[in-house]
Order: sequence, then structure tokens, then C-alpha cells
Amino acid sequence: MARHLGANRATITAIVQPLIEEGILVENSPIPSTRVGGRPARPIWFSPDGPSIAAMVVEHNAVHTALMSLGGNVLFFRDDAVDPAAGGSAAFLDVMQVALSDAMSRAGRAPLGIGVAVSGMVDTDSGTIVKVNLAEALDGLALGPELETRFRLPVQIDHHPRSISVGDRMFGLGRGLESFASIYTGEVLGGGYYLGGRLHRGVGGAGGEIGHTFVDANGSVCRCGRVGCWETIATVPWMREQAKALGIKNADSLAAVDLVRLSEQGDEAAKTLLHRYAKNLAIGIANLQQTIAPDTFILHGDAAAGGETMRALIEDHARALVPPRPGSTLKVLSSNDGHLTSVSGAAALVLSHQLAVNI
Ligand SMILES: [Zn+2]
Repeated sequence: MARHLGANRATITAIVQPLIEEGILVENSPIPSTRVGGRPARPIWFSPDGPSIAAMVVEHNAVHTALMSLGGNVLFFRDDAVDPAAGGSAAFLDVMQVALSDAMSRAGRAPLGIGVAVSGMVDTDSGTIVKVNLAEALDGLALGPELETRFRLPVQIDHHPRSISVGDRMFGLGRGLESFASIYTGEVLGGGYYLGGRLHRGVGGAGGEIGHTFVDANGSVCRCGRVGCWETIATVPWMREQAKALGIKNADSLAAVDLVRLSEQGDEAAKTLLHRYAKNLAIGIANLQQTIAPDTFILHGDAAAGGETMRALIEDHARALVPPRPGSTLKVLSSNDGHLTSVSGAAALVLSHQLAVNI
């Protein structure tokens, strides 16, 4: 750490030692000296017995709540369904109150804070939900301040794909990477980006709406009301509609993993659709590579659940869409942990803020 930061070893010890004494960090076994010599390094990581973090993922019809350790382990998890058409924002807040109280009752001491990932647009400066498609009750809700008042804990709230990106950076495939993009695929499409070691949010947290960048000026009308968004050609609802038209069985509940299985069994229609789905996902990735060149893309959601076949197809299509250039290799990785990734991301928001890194 001292070498990396160009700091004196005693300075690092002075910063780290109190965190070890508080039980937030622990020292692991020393790593032998490298060829260049010097004293053996002692790796430091979050203590499994340290304070926990409450994490919540808010979707248009569900709330997923967890208690996480600082090292990213799930200590407790619960799912709650919410009817977005009944009870307005009060119904959501009631569910959150019960779920968060339940999670916190499992902690030995007060959590460090509450991290919330929202599947919708969020004003990260004010902690307010701007808009959630399919759940008007949440539009305009000042959820951050509301939870801070109720639980008297710091609350960090952010856009769901961006929280996943923070989770990737702290606990997942983005660890140690200076630049990468996390891409969430499924009912909707969204992204979060680390550029040069820093999380990119855009003004007021407005960045990351990659699902609503335009890929077809004459395309279909999107759920957002505009025409030709990436979401009109690469979401799960789009894929199921295409499957129905192609006569693929169980089209209404089809996922990427089913398409992969059916194509492996020789179903030609499924094979055709699998390639189109992968290519359409690759279009948004290629556009992002051409715009900000993160080089590494970490897939989450339906595409990640499609496994290695889906990952490789998307990577091949994306590479074919982006002209090669020296020093840059587009890589697609796959992280398939379901809701675990999302709650880890929500918890990572708190950790990232508390440690005042990458904000
Ligand atoms: Zn749109």
C-alpha cells in the first residue's frame, strides 16, 4: 500500500492501525517479499466481525433487503413483494420499514449505514427517486431523507446498475480494474462505469441511462415514450415477443439460458434468436466502447445467466462492431449472482461513501 501510494510505511500504519483496533479491518498472513526485497507485506481486509451494512434493492414491484458484512458476505436476506398500484408510496415505505427493522435486529450493533439501489432514475445529490417505470407511486419520493429520519443512520441511494458497478469494484470482477462498465440486462437495460478509477455518475446522477440511448431512429416506441432506444431491441420482453413470433415454445417465460439450451438441442429458431439477442446486446456495448472505451464490460442479469455461451457470443459480436486498435481489447465478463450482486452493490455504496473513495 505504501509503495502504491508513494507514502511512508509509518504513515500507512498510523491510518490503518486505528481501523484494526476498532475491529473494522483485520490483518491476514504476510506475503513473502518479492524479488525487489523489502519487508513482507501484510494483506488487510474487512473484518468478518466488524460492523454490518443494511442494503436494499427497490424494484417496481418488490423490495429485497439484506444485512451484509463489510467483506461482502450476506448475513441475512429477505424478499418482499409490493403491489405498485395499491397504497402509493406509503405501501412501499411500510414494507421497507418492516424489512429494514428485521434485518437490523440481526446485527450485534448499529449498521454503518443503509445502501439503497433503485431500479429507476435517482437524483443522487438529494437522495430522491426521480422516476421508476411501472411504479408511479415512487416518482418524486425523497427516499434517502425519509429513511435517514426513520432509522437515524446515513443513507446512500443510487441507480441500480450504478450500485452494481460499485459492488463489482469492491467485491466482484471489477476489483483492481481502473476502468470498466457494468451492464445490467433483463426487463430493462442500464449501466454503471468506472473511468480511471473513479465512479462516473454524471450531473445529479443522470448518467447510466444507456437503455435509452438511441440505436434505431425509425425503431419501435420505447416504454419511456421515445423511439428506437436500445431497450426496444435487447430486453427480455423484446426477446420473448420475438420468440412468440418464431413459434418457440414457452415464449412467455423464456430467458437467455433457455435459448442457449434450445439452440444446443438443435432448435434452429432458438439459435437464430439467440444470435440476434446477443448481437443486439452487443450494439449498446459497442456504442459505449466507442464513446468512453472502458474495455472491460461486466454483464449482469439475464445475459449473465445465459452462461459462457451467451458471454462469448456477445463478446464476439461486440468485437466485430468495434474497429480494433492497439492497446485496447474489448472484453466481456459475466457475473451471475442474481439478487446477491444487487444487494452487494447497495452495501458497497455505503462502504464507498464511508471510506470516501471513488465518490
Ligand atoms: Zn427509452
